[in-house]
Amino acid sequence: MKIAIIGTGYVGLVTGNCFAESGNDVRCVDIDQEKIDGLQRGIIPIYEPGLSELVLKNAAAGRLHFTTDLARAVGDAELVYLAVGTPPADDGSADLTALWAVVDQVALHLSQDAMVVIKSTVPVGTNDETFRRLQALTGRECPVVSNPEFLKEGAAIQDFTFPDRVVVGVRSRQEADVMRELYQPFLRTDKPFLSMSPVSAELTKYVANALLSTKISFINEMANICEQVEGDINDVRRGIGHDQRIGFAFLFPGVGYGGSCFPKDVRALACMARDLGLEPRIMEAVDQVNNHQKHVLKDKIEKAFAGRLEGKTVAVWGLAFKPRTDDIREAPALTLLDRLVELGATVRVHDPEATSNVRAIYGDRLVYCQSEVETLDNADCLAINTEWSEYRNPDFADMKLRMATPLIFDGRNLFDPEQMRQLGFRYVSIGRPPAEPVSDAPAVRS
Ligand code: NAD
Repeated sequence: MKIAIIGTGYVGLVTGNCFAESGNDVRCVDIDQEKIDGLQRGIIPIYEPGLSELVLKNAAAGRLHFTTDLARAVGDAELVYLAVGTPPADDGSADLTALWAVVDQVALHLSQDAMVVIKSTVPVGTNDETFRRLQALTGRECPVVSNPEFLKEGAAIQDFTFPDRVVVGVRSRQEADVMRELYQPFLRTDKPFLSMSPVSAELTKYVANALLSTKISFINEMANICEQVEGDINDVRRGIGHDQRIGFAFLFPGVGYGGSCFPKDVRALACMARDLGLEPRIMEAVDQVNNHQKHVLKDKIEKAFAGRLEGKTVAVWGLAFKPRTDDIREAPALTLLDRLVELGATVRVHDPEATSNVRAIYGDRLVYCQSEVETLDNADCLAINTEWSEYRNPDFADMKLRMATPLIFDGRNLFDPEQMRQLGFRYVSIGRPPAEPVSDAPAVRS
């Protein structure tokens, strides 16, 4: 099939690439000339495992093209995918400015038999409005399908190639058949292809993200209760997770969720509910709990230093909102960095992929280190924000030698408190009692 993808961000680039990989002829369009120039030279604008290799391979095979020429890409296409951003507006609703701009442009060039597919996460009713808008602009009924995306940054290629399910919102059997054929190569493991109305498909995306965010905020709130009663959230987690009605997925306490999807989608769903005259009590609470949780790590650090961080050195491991991505949108690390900088601490940071995005915001207010070990030199404490796998098994003896004080604030519960105690660290994690070093622990630098 000839496919145009409008919007070559995380979702557009992954989608275009995976469709090219399955033999389609794909043109990825963007208004960002620099991004397209780079992609044409094989420079991938984001870090996503496996993406770079696949882009180079499909581009070399002539199945994947990058362009700013929307007219030509749309004019040739049988399917026109809309994958532009839908960022939050000031009131929390989804800002559809980019989407409507694209719909208006697409209408000018859409061929007679082409189908429009909305991949962006859009409020309920956007598909219907797009259908009406295209009808008004073209004078004919253009098929408009919803095809929400469920990929996770950091595992995007894997998720797209082996989806748990494919959801499409359609108005006719023919539309469903076209989409089923397109996704056939990705459904060979008998995963379901779920065809429903556009409204249900649009809502499915929001409900999925709302439930996942709810699980995170729920376990974080439980972790905070655990701390007050000196319980251990890990034990509690195990205690509930073996119940088959509950399970373990997405019930890891931490420093709150971030990224470009959960925060904005929870708020947008709440907005939708309010517009309908409903009170979105759960969504509002999920958002509030998460905003609170983003402060938990810095509050623990401030408390330990009685608010006096001027002249202190804080090492920070992990800046991206989660591992295996360079995305720092709404990352909890930013809340921590803002406060540490405000309090006058010297902040030495490391992230395997997100450093340049953070540097673009903080410039020379932070010290950027090449390795996580380097951040520790003379540090008064270490704060762990993101659970990159390279942070999970450090050389603790070397850490102690490098740090001025063996003090760790772990926002991701990477280590065993008892082991840390034996090793001579003061170790503060989430939802577990703090571990104080044993008195005969190996010597600590004064
Ligand atoms: P993004 O910001 O990474 O990419 C959007 C791209 O659209 C940018 O490259 C931008 O330059 C381009 N664009 C904007 N206006 C344009 C125009 N008029 N013409 C052509 N290109 C234009 O966004 P993203 O993370 O890929 O998200 C896209 C959509 O997919 C959003 O609705 C998001 O909620 C949804 N989504 C994202 C993820 C994710 O993990 N990132 C997962 C599922 C769904």
